[in-house]
Amino acid sequence: MTESQTGSGKHVVIVGGGFAGLHCARKLAAADPDVRITLIDKNNYQQFQPLLYQVATALLSPSNIAFNLRSVLMNHPRVDVKLGEVVSVDLSTHTVRTSHGHQYQGDFLVLAAGSQPNFFGTPGAVEHTYPLYSLHDAELLRSRILAMLESADANHALIDKGALNFVIVGAGPTGTEMAGAFADILDSWKERKAVHKAYKDLPLDRAQVFLVDAGHAVLGAFSEAAQRYAARMLTQRGVQIRLGTTVTEVGSEHVTLSDGTRIPTHTVIWAGGLQASSMSKSLGFKLGHGGRIDVQPDLTVPGQTGVYALGDFANIAGKDGRPLPQLASVAEQSGKWCAQNIVRDLGGKPRKAFEYLDKGIMAMIGRNAAVAEVGERRHELEGAIAFAAWLGVHAALLTSTIAKVEAFIEWAWWYFGGTRDDVVLDRTEELKVDWNQDTEAMASAAPSQSAGKAG
Ligand SMILES: Cc1cc2nc3c(=O)[nH]c(=O)nc-3n(C[C@H](O)[C@H](O)[C@H](O)COP(=O)(O)OP(=O)(O)OC[C@H]3O[C@@H](n4cnc5c(N)ncnc54)[C@H](O)[C@@H]3O)c2cc1C
Repeated sequence: MTESQTGSGKHVVIVGGGFAGLHCARKLAAADPDVRITLIDKNNYQQFQPLLYQVATALLSPSNIAFNLRSVLMNHPRVDVKLGEVVSVDLSTHTVRTSHGHQYQGDFLVLAAGSQPNFFGTPGAVEHTYPLYSLHDAELLRSRILAMLESADANHALIDKGALNFVIVGAGPTGTEMAGAFADILDSWKERKAVHKAYKDLPLDRAQVFLVDAGHAVLGAFSEAAQRYAARMLTQRGVQIRLGTTVTEVGSEHVTLSDGTRIPTHTVIWAGGLQASSMSKSLGFKLGHGGRIDVQPDLTVPGQTGVYALGDFANIAGKDGRPLPQLASVAEQSGKWCAQNIVRDLGGKPRKAFEYLDKGIMAMIGRNAAVAEVGERRHELEGAIAFAAWLGVHAALLTSTIAKVEAFIEWAWWYFGGTRDDVVLDRTEELKVDWNQDTEAMASAAPSQSAGKAG
């Protein structure tokens, strides 16, 4: 089926309804009511990735961080949402085709398909790790964590086989926030005995959280002071940090590190790197670092008329000429900027080079602990004030008002010591682990220091 152009105005096809695509659609619809927009996404919702780890650790529910695209765009009659995974792109005709065979052609084409995990060819990582990049990933990981608790509760001997060992690969913001959240939850369960009530005799003090990174600092993109603070906070909360260490192999029941350490575990969380989403491979175009498109300063794709690439799907140069990081704020601003440039194209005016307004970076390390570097001058905050800033900024970024209110209620509940004991294990397949294949891990695992040297 080929979708044809019926409206009076120009037609813009946007692939990807994340931060970049959604903001592009909204801005364009508001700026030029004659333009017809088709937004295609493989999901019918926008997912708020910065809070995925809170879904994985049951602090927030999926509905707090995922927003139906049709509802979000309901007030824009010229924006139509199509559910479909784009599998091929013809840059010269601005035509995309979905896996169901539907084709969409526009006068303009906007590529905003985001990222996917990069496993860097690590053996076993694709098969045995839990990436944290989508709502589906977060829900699966939450089920896995619960499954491990249930398994260990039913048979304490499984703790020696790594049932309560959680290994996080990558100490950037995602891995660090995940490690902090884990440590917080285990801590509150231990201290407040909430889980001791639910799981009467599960020895949670034997749970271990490892944070592994090839680099030599936690939160590599932050200042040295922030890195030291984050490492100190995580260590105080019981996280075992392994820096300068790569994961060389992941198995179904263990992970092996470059220093030879073998950690028995059934939950390896991959926060180790990103690359452009797989759609980039269908472009027949020379891609840049991370499989992304090196766009021109005005966000257009070199050599292609009327084609833009945005957000995580593009390498967008900053003021210093180096690519801007893969951040929600870069994606959002590039989406809005692209809309303005399309309006300029339509009005026969010259496009403008993208100017990124750097509001800073922040990361949550746990209750009352966060780091923030505010503005281009990177004014540093840490501790409770950064924690409060983090809550405010992330709530403000959420797409709907109800989500903002609900998130604040959940965070307040958490802050004042409430735990989520009511999380259900709705994916019982996560319980299906062949615990008997792992005799080696069992032999090498000591109760509280189960990361043993191989060989
Ligand atoms: C766990 C995690 C934590 C993060 N934390 C922060 C943070 O604290 N602060 C911050 O600023 N940034 C953070 N980021 C980065 C931020 O989320 C991204 O930079 C941002 O989401 C990029 O927006 P985007 O629109 O380019 O891509 P996305 O938001 O990924 O949107 C891409 C969209 O394209 C769709 N899509 C992909 N392929 C196809 C296809 N073939 N066909 C149709 N649709 C497709 C996807 O379904 C998705 O909806 C985090 C990212 C992750 C993964």
